[in-house]
Amino acid sequence: TTGKIWLKHYPDEIPHSLDYQNSSLHDFLQRSARKYPDQTAIEFLGKRLSYSELHQQAVQFAQRLQLLGIEKGDRVAIMLANCPQAVISYYGIIMTGAVAVQINPLYVERELEHQLIDSGAKLLVCLDLVFPRVQKVRAKTSLQQVIVTSIKDYLPFPKNLLYPIVQKEKVTVEYNEQTIAFSAFLKQGDGAFKPVPLDPETDLALLQYTGGTTGLAKGVMLTHRNLVVNTMQAGHWIYKTTPGQERMLAVLPFFHVYGMTVCMNLAIMNGFTLIILPKFEPDQVLKAIEKHKVSLFPGAPTMYIALIHQPEIETYDLSSVLACLSGAAPLPLEVQQTFERLTGGKLVEGYGLTETAPVLTANPIWGKRKSGSIGIPWPDTEMIVRTADGEEAEQGDVGEIAVRGPQVMKGYWKMAEETEKVLRDDGWLLTGDMGYMDEDGFFYIVDRKKDMIIAGGFNIFPREIEEVLYEHEAVQEVAIIGVPDQYRGETVKAFIVPKEGREVTAEDLDHFCRTRLAAYKVPHLYEFRTELPKTMVGKVLRRVLAEEEKRKEQDD
Ligand code: AMP
Repeated sequence: TTGKIWLKHYPDEIPHSLDYQNSSLHDFLQRSARKYPDQTAIEFLGKRLSYSELHQQAVQFAQRLQLLGIEKGDRVAIMLANCPQAVISYYGIIMTGAVAVQINPLYVERELEHQLIDSGAKLLVCLDLVFPRVQKVRAKTSLQQVIVTSIKDYLPFPKNLLYPIVQKEKVTVEYNEQTIAFSAFLKQGDGAFKPVPLDPETDLALLQYTGGTTGLAKGVMLTHRNLVVNTMQAGHWIYKTTPGQERMLAVLPFFHVYGMTVCMNLAIMNGFTLIILPKFEPDQVLKAIEKHKVSLFPGAPTMYIALIHQPEIETYDLSSVLACLSGAAPLPLEVQQTFERLTGGKLVEGYGLTETAPVLTANPIWGKRKSGSIGIPWPDTEMIVRTADGEEAEQGDVGEIAVRGPQVMKGYWKMAEETEKVLRDDGWLLTGDMGYMDEDGFFYIVDRKKDMIIAGGFNIFPREIEEVLYEHEAVQEVAIIGVPDQYRGETVKAFIVPKEGREVTAEDLDHFCRTRLAAYKVPHLYEFRTELPKTMVGKVLRRVLAEEEKRKEQDD
């Protein structure tokens, strides 16, 4: 079998298996507060919090939650952008044994309502900007209290949104016993926090919703063990960094499992300083790297794409950057190479899913790595490629990727049937991603199973065509989808965002593709746009493009 070939390729410095002890997630914060009390934990728009202050405020928050009656197993939701309050409430909630439910602050009422009702959250911590939306749905949910916080002069949302900013103007909140201001809440009452005994193996720390843009989102149940494991696996991956010293740029959203694990869990486990930016703005990111001598910068491909297209990037001193991990979506080769040339740091690609807390594989940062590959599985993580009949595929053959490991979720919240579809009794999780393994045990994702286009009987993976178009000098971004076709069943359509100031035509691109792709893969249709619909971590929403196409067809 090929299941463990990759073990031979492990960097010597990284053990194949780790000892996760019996830790709960919040033990990380407690230990860092003990080891690095005066070290800056958070730096946010000029405000600093040391590790001992952060820990103290999280404990205070936990104690106030206990006074409100929050107990082990209760769900408490967070609807915040990146800010210190997000870290304080996250750790505070988890300390009480309650389960944190992260809600995207861009969610509109329908999505918010579903997530609150489905999770049965008793309490919500939110930004004042989103409060009007909360008020509209509140009566239908089981919310007992809402804690509201604000960030002055603060524009939380990036430009390329999927959802419009629902509330732009200043919001006034009427405070009372059910609607409490965050700062007042921290000051209320007294008494000591009562530690809650937990079983990290079975007790949930997080309900993380996924798949929200297709029908209703599912809550992924992640235990303390799942999160502790993934954080410690990540800790080994960055083994050349120095605990208590690195500075990590925290611009990935904390409400997304990737930003949460790498920024809120990994950085805090290691006593790093989090340089929190509330919003991704390329020039602010470059300034922050230079000013704070950022050494670690976890991001998503769209962020690196935006940065390398900043004309003034060469004028910044980015030499402090040691390592960057890119995840959530495929990283085009061009982008990786250009970014590394500009910073001198390493940019490696990793891969994961919400269902796996989230990281499964990555390229070694300082060992052998391969461009275009998602790398090798992390310690204690088994990965195989399955044929359509559920057998293990031959090395090099494409099939569905399945994984088993201590970071794999407990299941979907109250959705046993959905869980059964993807999580087998023997612990293997079907990822829904198609990929293969090379002779060195490195894995590659060709695409999502459901994004595969079947044209005239040929299987086409959009990503292959996207990679080709990214090589075109006038193309900044591209997304490929399948659209209905009378003769071929489906045909290939390309959505192109040209580089600023560049003109490019469908003929140019057609000519370019014809010399690089088999005829059946060459797009038949092109559409030029100024931006593509994306999630907050920059995953291009091909599905949204496909739905638009469907609507257009119905209108015709
Ligand atoms: P989510 O649960 O929203 O984080 O989405 C997980 C999905 O993102 C995976 O199943 C993959 O389809 C995709 N994904 C994550 N990382 C990568 C990567 N490095 N390359 C390609 N696809 C990725």
